[in-house]
Amino acid sequence: MGRSFFSPGTGDTGTAPFDPARDAGHTDPPPRKGFFTDTSVCIGCKACEVACKEWNAVPEDGIALTGMSYDNTGGLGGSTWRHVAFIEQQLPAPAPDGGRPDTVDLGMPTATLPGADPEHREHADFRWLMESDVCKHCTHAACLDVCPTGALFRTEFGTVVVQDDICNGCGYCVPACPYGVIDRRDGPAGDPAVGLAQKCTLCYDRLSDGMEPACAKACPTQSIQFGDLDELRERAQGRLDMLVESGETTAQLYGHDPDNGVGGTGAFFLLLDEPEVYGLPPDPVVTTKDLPGMWRQAAFAAAALLGGAAAAFIGGKGGRR
Ligand code: SF4
Ligand code: SF4
Ligand code: SF4
Repeated sequence: MGRSFFSPGTGDTGTAPFDPARDAGHTDPPPRKGFFTDTSVCIGCKACEVACKEWNAVPEDGIALTGMSYDNTGGLGGSTWRHVAFIEQQLPAPAPDGGRPDTVDLGMPTATLPGADPEHREHADFRWLMESDVCKHCTHAACLDVCPTGALFRTEFGTVVVQDDICNGCGYCVPACPYGVIDRRDGPAGDPAVGLAQKCTLCYDRLSDGMEPACAKACPTQSIQFGDLDELRERAQGRLDMLVESGETTAQLYGHDPDNGVGGTGAFFLLLDEPEVYGLPPDPVVTTKDLPGMWRQAAFAAAALLGGAAAAFIGGKGGRR
């Protein structure tokens, strides 16, 4: 199936937005599918993590808490295709008049419920940020570019899927991902996928049957929204505008922009703070972006080497006459 390494913002559809499914050779693909994860309504219940494990038979990989937060899995990995990040964030508490307080912050979380003591404080000086992270299903996916066996492929829905029965465990895809998403499964012993590359498939089997992904289905707050990417982008912009208007001035969309370093992602997020706060790279790039140029330079160097060797050989023969 043909695909370009790093196609420009418009593809073979003229002025239409770049369509990775069409670029991969699907002649009549459905509208591109993806996720809009609205972290502002996530309650950290982890129903998404559990639903993913149950549907995809992903083994458990950490029941104990990390000791750093209410997190128990720590990050995405070979046995964590959905990961709910818990970030405890200290905020300067507003003074009664709404301005900055002149007290010294000792770094202790308040025991008062937000808004429970309006005489002294309108909000707690501490907040949870929760974010259900997942494979970004990049428009330009470096993991897919480097896979030598075809285990990774682009589906008709524009998503990126890894088939562990074709994976040979070489691990090239692992450092290629700019988000640290894909990894080889490291246990439990006896699991048939140990050593093989694993990540979210955007529930390709469910999509093929007209169902929504298991994690989106299980989310009780609609923090995870699945659908046509164009429609999700519009919905996300509306939600962002509403939040900013209501005072959440640091709220922002992450990954939605088709002009970003990976050509936009199929899974994008509404964050309440900067991406770094959530452990997300602020400016990801396709790690294989420079590969065509590097191959060209290698080919020139090889040709020059061969030319030199041939000249030396011919020169040597002439000298012996
Ligand atoms: S986030 Fe990583 S694993 Fe997922 S499609 Fe992009 S490059 Fe591949
Ligand atoms: S889309 Fe499916 S595979 Fe991906 S995180 Fe959700 S449940 Fe897991
Ligand atoms: S199921 Fe929804 S609300 Fe619960 S942790 Fe996952 S994203 Fe958050």
